[in-house]
Amino acid sequence: MSKRILLTGGAGFIGSNLCEHFLQKGYKVRCLDNLSTGRMSNIQGLLEHPNFEFVEADIRDFEACVKAVQDCELVLHQAALGSVPRSIDRPLDTNAVNITGFLNVLWAATQEGVERFVYAASSSTYGDSKELPKVEDRIGNPMSPYAVTKLVNEQYAKVFGQMYGIKTIGLRYFNVFGRNQDPDGAYAAAIPKFVKAFLEHRSPEIHGDGEQTRDFTYIDNVLHANECALETENEEVFHEVYNVAFGERTSVNQIVKKLQLLLSEKDPEIAEVELKYAQARKGDVRDSLADIAKARRMLNYNPKISVLAGVERAIDWYWNDLK
Ligand code: NAD
Repeated sequence: MSKRILLTGGAGFIGSNLCEHFLQKGYKVRCLDNLSTGRMSNIQGLLEHPNFEFVEADIRDFEACVKAVQDCELVLHQAALGSVPRSIDRPLDTNAVNITGFLNVLWAATQEGVERFVYAASSSTYGDSKELPKVEDRIGNPMSPYAVTKLVNEQYAKVFGQMYGIKTIGLRYFNVFGRNQDPDGAYAAAIPKFVKAFLEHRSPEIHGDGEQTRDFTYIDNVLHANECALETENEEVFHEVYNVAFGERTSVNQIVKKLQLLLSEKDPEIAEVELKYAQARKGDVRDSLADIAKARRMLNYNPKISVLAGVERAIDWYWNDLK
């Protein structure tokens, strides 16, 4: 009998890719989402799948979480309000969803006796630490309300392991990109926003001088990390957090130029679009690079797709779906 996963935030960018991935692997998937930043179009193709269920509900509603987790052996918790700037504008909403909502899902999962609770943590937890590469047990002070919420998630997961024995694994994602990532709205992530601007022959707006670096992580590496976390038989992995990245640093300027080059092959006018530089954003870190040795060693995580290979793979989706 295949196991059932409760996948919160399953209509979002990462969640919808996880839904599809685990259905393909033969799991049953119950996707819970309130469609606040997620979109039905991300999961439209899955609705007819016999092993897929969609529950429209809010993780701030504890009873809804209890109901949703029933009969699920596994939880992949992705639902959250992402974006550092949104958390600066709307700290109360961010706290309610990312902390109270997280606690609701974790407590419901604990009471229901789930086998594993794997959750989306974040590289923002490294905060103002200047150390590179980032190693899991050396973090700085949070630089935004969003980062506070993600740090609190990790602390709750650890304490719940000690108090109730629930087996948790936190995956600290580093700047994920790829298909289904929303390019629209004030709080959209940088890569789809740049692409959308190029496709509309507008100048993409780069914050700061563009020389800030990130460990941009292609979505398929994230799917692989979640699969490792759900399926590993190593009992030592629980109650811990792991960096999920490719382990390479790329500047924003490099990625924008690569996107421009690849999109220009499809539409030569894009080569003429000029880049626009704006003020650096509050709460943003200057450089980020993951040490992925712990995930390699403990989870057998072995990311295959580099940032440039990922951009090449994503470009057709951007061209077909964002235009
Ligand atoms: P996303 O906004 O596309 O997905 C989040 C999903 O959660 C959306 O479908 C949204 O509708 C849903 N959601 C939000 N509030 C909810 C609520 N109250 N009840 C039920 N559902 C709710 O974002 P994403 O990029 O796919 O992020 C997924 C997870 O990964 C989040 O926890 C995020 O903090 C984390 N993360 C993402 C990145 C990244 O680079 N994208 C990096 C680090 C961590």
